[in-house]
Amino acid sequence: GAKGDGRRTYRFFETGMDQRAKTRRSLELELRQAISDGSLETYYQPVVNIEDGKISSCEALLRWRHPERGMISPAEFIPIAEDSGLINELGQWVLNAACAEAVNWPDHVRVAVNVSPVQFRSQSLALNVAAALAASGLPASRLELEITEAVLIRDDAALDALHQLRKLGVRIALDDFGTGYSSLSYLQRFPFDKIKIDRSFIRDIAGPGASSSIVQAVVNIAAASDMTTTAEGVETAQQRNLLYILGCTEMQGYLFSPAISAVEVRRLLLTHSGMAMSAA
Ligand code: C2E
Ligand code: MG
Ligand code: MG
Ligand code: MG
Repeated sequence: GAKGDGRRTYRFFETGMDQRAKTRRSLELELRQAISDGSLETYYQPVVNIEDGKISSCEALLRWRHPERGMISPAEFIPIAEDSGLINELGQWVLNAACAEAVNWPDHVRVAVNVSPVQFRSQSLALNVAAALAASGLPASRLELEITEAVLIRDDAALDALHQLRKLGVRIALDDFGTGYSSLSYLQRFPFDKIKIDRSFIRDIAGPGASSSIVQAVVNIAAASDMTTTAEGVETAQQRNLLYILGCTEMQGYLFSPAISAVEVRRLLLTHSGMAMSAA
């Protein structure tokens, strides 16, 4: 009857929750181990300056090759790392790996590293960044940290941390701009070096909506404040051409290259002499 069904549904729900919590818990334990056993790897996605066709930087993106589950997306495991506090260790691991790799690249190519809002809550972020630079010998000017607006919502301590990082000489980029709690007022809170325009606007840029006007406005605001803009998720030649017309000259996306392994990126940077307008 109806009562029985209800109870079954309830139990099923409970079991589902339980299962999810278990999966999360075991992923957390395995992630802890993955940091030391080599199943985590840092890939790099080129960012292209469309004016000269050259790669100006590469963004470090984590990859986790799980022995049973296969490739696990950072979109899945970064939140787990954030909730468990493991993100501090993980973040430091990526910073060290990315800086150590980037010293092998040509001098004009920077490395970009994503920094979680949680890492801003630890008092030692600037010290940790300085340690990664010192250990690798990478000049601070070649490191770019990508942060999201969530960092600025939380507190003013985060703002202090940003200023400390700036004093070290690293560049600060605002990632995924236009999503979440996005507000133009965040641009006044800190003098970013770069704004990365979120993929959702690039995806719709050729459509009938306001995306192209929004991109245009962001490019103009950035230019007026000495910031550069990078378009995320550029997948088609049409998007690239429209962005170019709108004055956005730095682009990142599958049209140019996905994230590739450190070995592949080294090879690419050695042989590379311009890919922008030819990739179509
Ligand atoms: P993000 O920082 O915004 O990175 C861009 C994401 O878009 C990457 O996904 C990249 O592979 C993907 N992407 C690039 N071009 C295209 C395109 O043309 N089309 C589409 N559909 N996607 C594209 P990924 O590597 O899965 O990373 C997802 C998110 O996970 C990142 O977003 C970042 O927030 C986070 N993440 C990755 N690595 C790290 C890390 O080391 N530390 C922290 N804190 N977060 C990380
Ligand atoms: Mg990023
Ligand atoms: Mg992004
Ligand atoms: Mg994004």
